[in-house]
Amino acid sequence: MKKFGLHWFRRDLRVAGNPALQRQFSLYEGRVVCLFCFDKEFLNRPDFSINRFQFFLETLDALKQELRQIGSDLLVLDTGPKEAFKQLFDGLKNSSTLECLDLISFCRDYEPFACQRDDQMTTFFEDHSLSVETFRDHLIIEPDELTKDDGEGYKVYTPFSRKWMELIENDQFQSRINSQVTSIEYYKKKKFNRKLFQLSWNDVLKNKYFLEDVLKQYIEDNSKFVDIPIPPAGSLHAWKSLEEFCSKIQAYGQKRDFPAQEATSKFSLYLKNGSLTTAQIYYYLKLKTYKKKQLSQDVFLSEIIWREFYYHLLWRHPRVEQEAFLTQYKDLKWANDKEKFQIWCEGKTGFPIVDAGMRQLNQTGWMHNRVRMIVASFLTKDLLIDWKWGEQYFMEKLLDGDVAANNGGWQWAASTGCDAQPYFRIFNPWTQSKRFDPEGVYIKKYLPQLKEYPAKSLHKPILDCEAYPAPIVDHSAQRNKALAMYKINKK
Ligand SMILES: Cc1cc2nc3c(=O)[nH]c(=O)nc-3n(C[C@H](O)[C@H](O)[C@H](O)COP(=O)(O)OP(=O)(O)OC[C@H]3O[C@@H](n4cnc5c(N)ncnc54)[C@H](O)[C@@H]3O)c2cc1C
Repeated sequence: MKKFGLHWFRRDLRVAGNPALQRQFSLYEGRVVCLFCFDKEFLNRPDFSINRFQFFLETLDALKQELRQIGSDLLVLDTGPKEAFKQLFDGLKNSSTLECLDLISFCRDYEPFACQRDDQMTTFFEDHSLSVETFRDHLIIEPDELTKDDGEGYKVYTPFSRKWMELIENDQFQSRINSQVTSIEYYKKKKFNRKLFQLSWNDVLKNKYFLEDVLKQYIEDNSKFVDIPIPPAGSLHAWKSLEEFCSKIQAYGQKRDFPAQEATSKFSLYLKNGSLTTAQIYYYLKLKTYKKKQLSQDVFLSEIIWREFYYHLLWRHPRVEQEAFLTQYKDLKWANDKEKFQIWCEGKTGFPIVDAGMRQLNQTGWMHNRVRMIVASFLTKDLLIDWKWGEQYFMEKLLDGDVAANNGGWQWAASTGCDAQPYFRIFNPWTQSKRFDPEGVYIKKYLPQLKEYPAKSLHKPILDCEAYPAPIVDHSAQRNKALAMYKINKK
């Protein structure tokens, strides 16, 4: 038997434009087998979400189907990586194919949990005398590639983004992005309907145990607890959404802040698990729309750069997962009223824009960015509740829940983060509501009991509605309390 490679999928769940898979594919002329394994340690994390897991499982399933269509398959094992690879190596040994396994690849991850796991697994593979190659995929520019002149990471977004924009023009990064062109051809020419791979698990493993349908069981079991509609998953859908969004991107710059306009891309769902990558987005944007030099593309790109900024930050300062980036705000004296927190979670605060946002989150697993900022500011600076509580609730509910962006967003809103808004800048929920949902279209969509109310009455306390509560706090009074709380710890 000829030598072959093995690709370990994690959060790079696509075939086209997957740099590790591409490299293995060409190195071994299509003789690559693919693996995914469930990690109980990961599934037991407190920020686990049943709904997000379902979306992930459906993405895995789409990947598996796609791999099968092109002559390969995805082996799914039900144990953490160390145990899974041990079992697999035994299985390959029994089939006398282990000596032909030449290379293991995976794409790099930057979350603290994943970094630790990957270090351990690399040692494990090396102990088994196996070569490992890791690849950049999740970000366009990795943290160690973008530093200040002194080698330190940036702590302010604007110079970070300036440097990012400068670097991206370099040949090294452009060629990285250009390699994504294969994915465009792949989808356009429907290459996924042809047999491309030359090796499948059946060729290298004789033990039926491995071919049990673990994934199907997971999907069935988990789906019983799902309580929202799960959007279409997989790279083909991600690709379609990229095409659709590029055709309407002109409006993004002007409309992205208005939740009723639905002008944003919703790529966050697909970026989370790698059905789509920022490099693909960048390439496609450039190809399709950059020539027109519209403001919208630059605004959109700046959001993608925020995502990379938060990833760099998490990688460099993994402690932010547990505590405030600004150490003076580590021990703020939050009121942490459990009852008020529950009211916030359920969207019953009596502030329509906040409640509409929380209901959008609970009903759909997604919330518009402007509203995320409003509800986060409200929780921390109006209810004086620890941002970590909100961060955790978002992770339980969001389909796009992602440690880096979520932590970054919460710490930004709570003014405890790196390049966060200053503590004295406190969103007034009434003004935000009036400015960003003037006609109340978004509010009425998620609070139908307010349908008959004229728009202007939605941006102030509603005291005459049986089906809708009066505000649980007075914004001005709470604002003063918040200022006092932060001032004590101000440096
Ligand atoms: C409190 C709070 C919590 C958040 N939690 C998450 C989270 O768990 N996961 C997540 O992906 N995003 C999070 N964000 C960022 C942002 O709200 C979402 O990325 C965005 O709403 C996703 O919708 P979209 O894809 O339509 O965005 P678009 O406006 O179309 O933006 C395109 C992409 O840029 C990135 N992006 C946009 N805005 C931001 C931002 N402010 N910070 C970082 N990246 C951004 C996302 O990857 C997004 O998909 C959070 C923001 C806040 C204020």
